[in-house]
Amino acid sequence: TFRCTEITAAVTRAQGAPFTLEKGRIRAPEGTEVLVRIVATGLCHTDLIVRDQYYPVPLPAVLGHEGAGIIEAVGPNVATLQTGDHVVLTFGSCGHCDLCAQGHVCYCQNFFGLNFGGADKDGKTAIEDMDGKPLHDHFFAQSSFATYAIATESNTVKVPKDAPLEMLGPLGCGIQTGAGAVMNSLKVGPGTAFASFGAGAVGLSSVMAAKAVGATTIIAVDVVASRLELAQELGATHVVNSREQDMVEAVRNITGGGVDFALETTGRAEVLAQAIECLGSLGTIGVIGAPKLGTKAEFDINNLLLLGRSIRGIVEGDSVPQIFIPQLIELNRQGRFPFDKLIKFYPFDKINEAVKDSESGVTLKAVLKIG
Ligand code: NAD
Ligand code: ZN
Repeated sequence: TFRCTEITAAVTRAQGAPFTLEKGRIRAPEGTEVLVRIVATGLCHTDLIVRDQYYPVPLPAVLGHEGAGIIEAVGPNVATLQTGDHVVLTFGSCGHCDLCAQGHVCYCQNFFGLNFGGADKDGKTAIEDMDGKPLHDHFFAQSSFATYAIATESNTVKVPKDAPLEMLGPLGCGIQTGAGAVMNSLKVGPGTAFASFGAGAVGLSSVMAAKAVGATTIIAVDVVASRLELAQELGATHVVNSREQDMVEAVRNITGGGVDFALETTGRAEVLAQAIECLGSLGTIGVIGAPKLGTKAEFDINNLLLLGRSIRGIVEGDSVPQIFIPQLIELNRQGRFPFDKLIKFYPFDKINEAVKDSESGVTLKAVLKIG
């Protein structure tokens, strides 16, 4: 029997278009899927680059990939989750490839298709509009700019019922990416020097994490003064406004020889090139910011080679979400990872205002209150 639930979703109908709130229908969960009543969803810069088609997700589509909510129904093969559980939705991974088997779920060999394919692994969608026309979905295996979303057991993280659910969605992407890049990928240690290029939601999450692990020089670089002020509140020991100062010179002056660890979170080729020059000998930079597919950066190879510097890409902070997200919730409860300071809430129907405020830099992490 075909059962479905009426939903309201924010639909992206064309490249660069504003989100439109529309009614539609979502089918019941099958197999290892869960149906989640979305309470709140974070807005991540990745939603906007997909709206702008830097990554070719087919449109029209329902985006949104930082969902938090309550399980409404479970498919027949779900083993570890129940109706009523509070959950955070995160990125999809297949669970069967070599990388998943090794625990490297962020580098799942099916990552692109599962998260950006606009449908499930068989090419089928779960949402249709009121005319019965399918809407592309399964964005990050969730499409959570909607009152209900279908996710899979493997990308659904159960969280404690006494944690503030409406704030937790961004842990599923932006916040776990910045924090995980520091804690899991780079393994920034006590007494080291760290720099984040970009002090947006991802960059500031990395600043908080660097403080939590005991880095003693923490530099935030951005072009928005208010973001740099917040960075200092969250643990940056130094800030650099790269519109006013040469960032390479500034970071060298602060550190002497350059930083041990850095993250590129602006998605700009010229910032990456300069950030490499901010590394000390044997320093490592993680690349997180996502430009258009095909974007190239230029740097002096010998500056990499002779100083033993490393550069690596990072997806989702090398997180194993079922382990890492509860750890971040506990660090937050203890006051050691105050990501709540990044969040500003918007009603669901003000999604385009949330986008505008995020793009202008007024809002760090917009969270849409949905249900
Ligand atoms: P954001 O827009 O909040 O942050 C980007 C910051 O870069 C802004 O504060 C902006 O002012 C700053 N910036 C722009 N130009 C600059 C310049 N020339 N010099 C210094 N700073 C500059 O975005 P976010 O949500 O923090 O996401 C950051 C990036 O990470 C995006 O590209 C997003 O798509 C990507 N992302 C990647 C992953 C991953 O797994 N690799 C996960 C989440 C987000
Ligand atoms: Zn994201």
